[in-house]
Amino acid sequence: MNAFPRDGEPNAAARALVPASAIVMITILACSDAVALRKPATPAPSTSRPTSDGPVATPSTSTPTAPTSSPDRSSGPAPSTPTATAPVFKPPEELLRIPAFDAPPYVRVRVRESAAGRGVAFSASGGYRIVDGIAENPQDTRLPQLAAGQHLGAATAYAEKGGIRVNGILLPARTISVLVGESGALTIDGQRYHGSLVLQIAPSGGLDAVNLVQLEDYVAGVLFAEMPKNFGEEALRAQAIVARTYALFHAMRGAILKDDQSSQVYAGVAGESPVARRIVQATRGEVLTFDDRLFQTFFHSTCGGRTSSAAEVFALKTPPPMNASVECDGCRDAPLYRWTRKLTTAQFATTLVPRGQVADLAVPEKSADGHALRVQLLDSASRVLFDDDAEGFRNRFNQSRPLRDQIPSMFLANVVRKGATFLLEGRGFGHGVGMCQYGARGMAKRGSDSRAILARYYPASRVKRIYG
Ligand SMILES: [Zn+2]
Repeated sequence: MNAFPRDGEPNAAARALVPASAIVMITILACSDAVALRKPATPAPSTSRPTSDGPVATPSTSTPTAPTSSPDRSSGPAPSTPTATAPVFKPPEELLRIPAFDAPPYVRVRVRESAAGRGVAFSASGGYRIVDGIAENPQDTRLPQLAAGQHLGAATAYAEKGGIRVNGILLPARTISVLVGESGALTIDGQRYHGSLVLQIAPSGGLDAVNLVQLEDYVAGVLFAEMPKNFGEEALRAQAIVARTYALFHAMRGAILKDDQSSQVYAGVAGESPVARRIVQATRGEVLTFDDRLFQTFFHSTCGGRTSSAAEVFALKTPPPMNASVECDGCRDAPLYRWTRKLTTAQFATTLVPRGQVADLAVPEKSADGHALRVQLLDSASRVLFDDDAEGFRNRFNQSRPLRDQIPSMFLANVVRKGATFLLEGRGFGHGVGMCQYGARGMAKRGSDSRAILARYYPASRVKRIYG
């Protein structure tokens, strides 16, 4: 939740790892466009079942961030800079210049991570090309071609020492792209996706499956996974613009998005609907800018009455739209507008303090609006057993707990200790930074349009259309 995956571009390194003999093989394969991969009679690897992280979260119907399998659906994307350690400010990351686009760019989303020895099942139809390296888009012709064909059904890929084995044929590369034509179809572990597939051997020895998907298709697969469809047209339009901006910001930094809350929940074709498509189309190419540049658009479920500044909550030096703390009365009817939680010292002990007896919880630092910024757990002699920024504390505490046992936010109004029990009274759900989704719903209900919603939660920002 804290750290956005900071994957570098493994292509250059990967190419260097290809042995000389492999280069010959690449050349041979590249000479023939007709080399197609068909499933051999006996697949080489012993494990035939692909691994799966389980189904991708389906759109929530209760709260925008109600968990399915993940510990924290309360907040939209987390900051890309880890907050548990010293905050790092790198000016180029704060605001990004937007290049000229004549069409929607492609973004990369990791949709499967298979363990070493396990495979990734996929299919590609309507014409495919397999190339060595990471393609920028399905039309990319820069990379050496390893294979091509019309239809690749029920394929399985495995990471091996010498490369990636697809249907029994070893392709001598650590990263390959399976490029699917515009009229083609792609499935990964049985789920349909737009775009193409990149397979990368992970440092663990497993295989990562990355969906190379056009930004508009990506937003269509995210929209209803991040905001319930009954939140109102204008709130959904605002969400589409925020989701598009967030993804493009990270894509432009070369990052690979994840398909869960650590970036944005993305469900591929299964997450789409004609309504989602229509809303995405209505906002096509629109992103949120400050000073004509992109910034990282955080959002969350319920602010509880006032949003928080990213500068305070995440200790990030972010541009003015993200540093605002704005009043919000649209989320009053959200399920977690106000909440209480009864926690025991034993609960802290198991998740946060492996040794020592927790006797007290202290909040040594708070923002002006009441958001806890730092949390300490102390023993009976007031020795500090745990000390972290508040969102880091919340995320670690919430991990693997059902929602009813989680701490919904660090907007704590009161903490009362009675013996081994703490009673926490708090407001809101999520980190509180950027757009309050329930607040957006409230504004939409009262007749505000998406522009007004975005202007409220991201003051001084402007919506800009960057391609037609
Ligand atoms: Zn709110």
